[in-house]
Amino acid sequence: MGLLDAGITRHNMLVTSVDNVLNWARLSSLWPMGFGLACCAIEMMATNASNYDLERFGIFPRSSPRQSDLMIVAGTVTMKMAERVVRLYEQMPEPRYVLSMGSCSNCGGPYWEHGYHVLKGVDRIIPVDVYVPGCPPRPESLIGGLMKVQELIRMEQIGISREDALKKLAEKNVDPRLIIEQERKVATA
Ligand code: SF4
Repeated sequence: MGLLDAGITRHNMLVTSVDNVLNWARLSSLWPMGFGLACCAIEMMATNASNYDLERFGIFPRSSPRQSDLMIVAGTVTMKMAERVVRLYEQMPEPRYVLSMGSCSNCGGPYWEHGYHVLKGVDRIIPVDVYVPGCPPRPESLIGGLMKVQELIRMEQIGISREDALKKLAEKNVDPRLIIEQERKVATA
């Protein structure tokens, strides 16, 4: 209210850039998709409970990828689920962000060596913006990760950063489904 009292009621004017206003609006209304894959998802649900009050950041889960701008990959990404994760990601509109929550999603977790059915990192199939370490990470860690995503959005220049991200993706030039197939072959060889 200090800003409103001092800035608006007296001078009735605020000077800023379009980037700042749009970024502020987007980072203050971050809607993660509500889905979870394994035990990390329980911590994600706890983070959404009333005692952590995520809505003070404008963050609340949506049940459709078409209305979400953030995917939290919470849990073990099995080969079977990996294709669904890619499909959900593809259904999200741009600009979209991905937060990888926990060791399983970051690198395969306890299954990194002998888990023939587990993808060794979700970043092999979709681009990840923020990684949250832990097995499982506590809600405070997830909130820290969400604030990193907000920082990322705050630094964006409309029309430039997403192009850069897409260029990086194009450089990889690999169909995620091929990677899942390759991983599956290596694991079962
Ligand atoms: S990182 Fe740990 S807590 Fe999270 S899904 Fe994997 S095994 Fe479960």
